[in-house]
Amino acid sequence: MADAPIEPTIPPSGDGCVECLAADGWWFHLRRCAACGHIGCCDSSPSQHASAHAHETGHWIITSFEPGEDWYYDYRADQMLEGPPLAPPEHHPLSQPTPGPAGKVPHDWQRHLH
Ligand SMILES: [Zn+2]
Ligand SMILES: [Zn+2]
Repeated sequence: MADAPIEPTIPPSGDGCVECLAADGWWFHLRRCAACGHIGCCDSSPSQHASAHAHETGHWIITSFEPGEDWYYDYRADQMLEGPPLAPPEHHPLSQPTPGPAGKVPHDWQRHLH
C-alpha cells in the first residue's frame, strides 16, 4: 500500500456521490478521494459513502468537494492535513444544490442527517 495515497492528476469521478447517484439517493456534502477521485457523500449524509469508500479501499485521505473548501482529512490518523491542489474541477458544479442532487432530497432532509 502506498505511503501517501494522494494522486493529484486524477480528476473527480463526477458531479455527485457515485453510490447515491446509482441508487437514487441524496447527500448533504460531498467528499473527494485523494487517491482515485471517487466522489462520495460526507459523514452527515444518510449513507456516508465517502467513509465507506475509505474503509473498503484503504484510500484514507479525502478532501472536500464543496465550493470554497480546501481541507484534507486523514481517516486513519483522524486528523486534518495539508495537501496539494488536485486536478480540476475542485468542487461540484455551482448549479448543483446542497443538499443534492436536485429532485432527490426529501423535504424533511435535516431529520435524516447523522
Ligand atoms: Zn452517497
Ligand atoms: Zn479512492
